[in-house]
Amino acid sequence: ARCYSAAAKGGLSISGVSDIIAVASGKGGVGKSTTAVNIAVALAKEFKLKVGLLDADIYGPSIPTMMHLHEKPEVMSALEKMTRGVAWGNLDVLVVDMPPGTGDAQLSMSQRLRLSGALIVSTPQDIALIDARRGANMFRKVQVPILGLVENMSCFKCPKCGEKSYIFGEGGAQRTAEDMDMKFLGEIPLEIDIRTGSDEGKPIVISSPDSASAQAYLRVAEKV
Ligand code: ADP
Repeated sequence: ARCYSAAAKGGLSISGVSDIIAVASGKGGVGKSTTAVNIAVALAKEFKLKVGLLDADIYGPSIPTMMHLHEKPEVMSALEKMTRGVAWGNLDVLVVDMPPGTGDAQLSMSQRLRLSGALIVSTPQDIALIDARRGANMFRKVQVPILGLVENMSCFKCPKCGEKSYIFGEGGAQRTAEDMDMKFLGEIPLEIDIRTGSDEGKPIVISSPDSASAQAYLRVAEKV
């Protein structure tokens, strides 16, 4: 893990925080939060960095529906509360779990935070990759360096026979990364333990550090 501070341009910095890294996805449900969590843990555990994790996925679209609200939420004041209003202490890296998508909220968040870089998460499906491209273009537009693309749910290895199934397609993210001139950061398998770990609040990088999946996260963290 490197220090990117020199690359960060403009925007809101947080006192005591060296680097702010966004974990983003064009599409929801691709495993952005799971990746953010495991990368944050890997950076802290393996690379001995002081890491913070900010859930900026404040756009939970079910809440406005459930509360019958039509106004746009005050995203930016919330963002400032979450950044400046929190005693983060001295951190090497703050990992920000961004809201999925490439709309106005994401765009202004990318501009308002002093991001050192963005990591983009996608599944290998075309439909997710199209949105990942949009995400990359958005960060480029606001001059945020793209750290690379992570392919999540890349393949499923049958626990019984060991056969690999590329449920969402094979090699799509790597091709997209090359095409978009982004670094390909690696593949995270589709794995039951990753999902149960997330649900139980025990990221796999902590609960099964020697597993193939945890090692896959560590390899991604190493390249960030
Ligand atoms: P997002 O933040 O993109 O909406 P999440 O990280 O919340 O996505 O993941 C969506 C669901 O998929 C969660 O239930 C999570 O546990 C699961 N999940 C994410 N990545 C994997 C993976 N590699 N293998 C198995 N399940 C995963």
